[in-house]
Amino acid sequence: MERRDFLKLSAAATLTLAVEPAWAQTAKTEIHWLGQATTKLTTASGKVIVIDPFLTNNPKTPQEFKNLDKLGKVDVILITHGHADHLGTVGRTDGSCDAVDLAKRTGAKVFGPAGLIQTMIDLGWVSAEQGIRFGKGGTVTPLGPEVKITQVRAEHSSEVTLTDPTTKKTHTYPAGEPAGFIIETENGLKVYHMGDTGLFGDMRLIGEYYKPDVVLIPIGGHFVMDPRDAAYATREMLKPKHAIPIHYGTFPVLKGTPQEYQSALGQTSTQVHPLSPGDKLTF
Ligand SMILES: [Zn+2]
Repeated sequence: MERRDFLKLSAAATLTLAVEPAWAQTAKTEIHWLGQATTKLTTASGKVIVIDPFLTNNPKTPQEFKNLDKLGKVDVILITHGHADHLGTVGRTDGSCDAVDLAKRTGAKVFGPAGLIQTMIDLGWVSAEQGIRFGKGGTVTPLGPEVKITQVRAEHSSEVTLTDPTTKKTHTYPAGEPAGFIIETENGLKVYHMGDTGLFGDMRLIGEYYKPDVVLIPIGGHFVMDPRDAAYATREMLKPKHAIPIHYGTFPVLKGTPQEYQSALGQTSTQVHPLSPGDKLTF
């Protein structure tokens, strides 16, 4: 190497060190799973993202977190699709849901597929300022440029069904297309929350292009992948360093178990973390 190049390189290295914030050296991203798809992610610099809040009537959520205030500060809410176990409309007959209650309490903006957010605006749940529509392939940075949230495909459906409090009849609204989210945090960690999804071939593209480090993967079957599908997606297409099974056991129909997922996976470089609702991991 010529001396001139060496000087250029060492100047660049010094600059990088000088501008790198202190927390980047040691801080980690925390993932707190609260049952079904509900996930609280705290980034290295302390920003809080809540994905698919289904808490107050979630049979698997630890009692203390059925009180939405126990989540503390929330900066951004992400919703993958309009189903009751993702908005938290389960058991509500007053036209409310956990996602909107949480948005009201915390002031957090709600991001999700354009069609879903539009329905939330039309229903008067959020204002057009608080509900932010975006689409698959789009990246948003509401927490600053160092935290990137990208919306990706999910193979599922999306509609919002509400029960009329007086007639008890249900009414179903269209809610765009379902999605997953890839969140890249300040420490460079890429967390892929898959939402509800069946197996699809472009998981290979997502694996190759985004290279997720941690995948929150649905395994319950019936509405989503079963353990065998999820194992195939993990081993053959996504190849993450870590996998956290979600969306199982909450209702009888979601039969898949982390044990079945692990045995279908066999020998692999992916480390599986079978969590209990309420457990936290840091990466
Ligand atoms: Zn769903």
